[in-house]
Amino acid sequence: METIRAKGIRDRRVLEAIGRVPRHLFIDPALQDYAYEDRPLPIGSEQTISQPFTVAYMTSLLQVEPGHKVLEIGTGSGYQTAVLLELGAKVYTVERIKDLYDETKERLHRLGYYPERMVYGDGYKGLPVFAPYDRIIITAAAPYIPEKLVEQLAPGGIMVLPLGQGTQDMVRLIKTPEGEIRTETYDKFTFVPLKPGKA
Ligand code: SAH
Repeated sequence: METIRAKGIRDRRVLEAIGRVPRHLFIDPALQDYAYEDRPLPIGSEQTISQPFTVAYMTSLLQVEPGHKVLEIGTGSGYQTAVLLELGAKVYTVERIKDLYDETKERLHRLGYYPERMVYGDGYKGLPVFAPYDRIIITAAAPYIPEKLVEQLAPGGIMVLPLGQGTQDMVRLIKTPEGEIRTETYDKFTFVPLKPGKA
């Protein structure tokens, strides 16, 4: 937590939410000694749980308020999901690897975290049945901004995603109340890529 703060995350609600989530319970018991170091760790199926700093950074940009409907693409270990729930969001989360989906659903429920919906499916398509969303977060590298997700963002909504191949720019996309799109570019990160289509 001190490390994240030292790296420049100032949003107190975000820091507190992260402080309430037991990260060691989201990773393989064999790696638990590393759970509170600021680094990404493997979660199986060649995927990783994001570095705490990255989770803090993206969550700060997202500006989540209690009661917001948040769509998360890439459930992974469920760690980011838990942080969003701690902020009082109603979370809809999509994962396209069945093993991770099954494992994480069980884990979140065991830890008392209840997203509004957990869906096994293709995040590029979003989750149109429950749209629009106040906030959308993509937790894997997107080669381009998925159009369907922009459509599912409410007017006044915010979407945060790592954009690009190789290394990514953290991008915040804002849909104005009039429906215009503005984008802001932040620091560079390296994420595993979004997988195309459904497994
Ligand atoms: N938020 C996660 C980090 C996940 S890593 C955590 O806190 O642990 C990115 C995740 O996105 C992986 O679980 C990967 O399987 C998933 N993913 C990749 N492509 C996807 C797609 N097209 N739709 C939905 N999820 C996808």
